[in-house]
Formats: sequence, structure tokens, C-alpha cells
Amino acid sequence: MAEGDTILRAARRLDAALGGEIVAASAPNPRGRAAGIERLDGRRLEAVESHGKNLLLRFGDLALHSHMGMNGSWHVYARGARWRKPRRSAWAVLAGERWEAVQFGGPTLRLIPATRLTRDPQLARLGPDVLAPDFDPDAVIAPMRADPARTLGDALLDQALVAGIGNIFKSEASFAARLDPWRQIADLSDDDLRAVLRAAREQMLRAVDGGRHTYAVYKGRRPCPVCGGRIVSRGQGDANRTTYWCPRCQL
Ligand SMILES: [Zn+2]
Repeated sequence: MAEGDTILRAARRLDAALGGEIVAASAPNPRGRAAGIERLDGRRLEAVESHGKNLLLRFGDLALHSHMGMNGSWHVYARGARWRKPRRSAWAVLAGERWEAVQFGGPTLRLIPATRLTRDPQLARLGPDVLAPDFDPDAVIAPMRADPARTLGDALLDQALVAGIGNIFKSEASFAARLDPWRQIADLSDDDLRAVLRAAREQMLRAVDGGRHTYAVYKGRRPCPVCGGRIVSRGQGDANRTTYWCPRCQL
């Protein structure tokens, strides 16, 4: 699953390639035609925004909303370059003067009238974006406390509480804050919650800028970098997403 850092990187790449340009839009795959991608043909890409795991491309009174889920992706190619996937599987092709952006798969690709963005059900329910420049952890704490019996790992994944954190940074941020992801929200102090949210933001911003990084606990392939003990894992929350943690270091 693409997490917020991947989406912010994609937004920056798309903006650098096509921002401000009039695009030629096409939809080789029927899914893209059904989404009306061709309506974007001849429009100017005015802005590219990310909010959590969601990408918004703004074209005047229309916006293209993309959520990549587990298997969606955006590729950017120099025009005429060979694609890494077959043309017929592309849902959207946005071609500018020198670059083209190509979208493949994912749960969501749709056009929304710009006037409806603020009350769109999928977008309006999102909590604050953990990667936004003005992100304030304190704005997340009270909504988290509304469900005190929930476990930390599960709450961090709830996009309505805080948008952008996925399975990797749920585990990595809990480790960085030395908090057991199975503790209930009621059992954690405001300082604890602030620490884990700040850790997630810092780790994800580093991932946006830095490319490769090694995980402390995610996937549990190496011993704990702090105590050398074994990393354990278990499915957590309604979606049973695997959480990794060090039972000695995270209390
Ligand atoms: Zn440890």
C-alpha cells in the first residue's frame, strides 16, 4: 500500500513534469474511459496536491482524484520513452511537451467538479495530513481519545483520524516512540501520542526526500537494532494488518 510519503513524492514528480502545462489526455484502458479521463484533454494542469494517500490533480473546474491502494501507480516518462507496462493497461495518460504521466490500476480514479471537493464524502472524512507543512499532532489527540479502547496501531491507520500513515510507518513510528502498538489509547499520555505522531511525520518526510532507508522493525527480518532481540508480529485491527514490534523495547 502506497503510504503518504509515496504519494507526496508522486505529487512532486507529476508537478515537476507537467505542472502548468496544457495536457493531451487519453485513456487506453476502458476503466479510464469510464472515468471520463478524456474530458481533461486540452486542459491546463494547475496544481498537484496530496492529502494522505490521495492525490488530486487540479484542472480548472475539474479535479482528478487518484487513490493507488495496493496496486495502483503513476509513472512519469519522457515522451516517446518505452513504458514498463503495456499501453492497454493504462487508465490515464496525461502528455505534456516533454513528459507524460501514466496511471495504472488502483481502487480510485475519478473526476470531481472542483466545487464539490470540500464536501466529497471520500475526501471530507480524511483527518489532518501527517505530511502537511502545518500538521499539528495536538489536533489529532482529541479525536483519537474519542475511542479510548482502541489500540495505538489500529488508530494510527485510521485515515479519518490522521491521513497518510500506512502499515510500514505505523510499526516504525511506534518503535521510534518506544510504545507498544497494542496499548489502548486511554492508557497513553498526550506526550506519548504526540511523540508517535511526530515520529511518523519525521520518518515519512525523510522517506520523501531520501529514497532508500532501512526499517527498524517492519517485516522483522533483522533483530531489534536496540536490544538485539527478536521482532514479533501479529495482525491488528479490523483489517488485520500485520504489526511488527519489539516486546522488550516497546512498553
Ligand atoms: Zn528491542
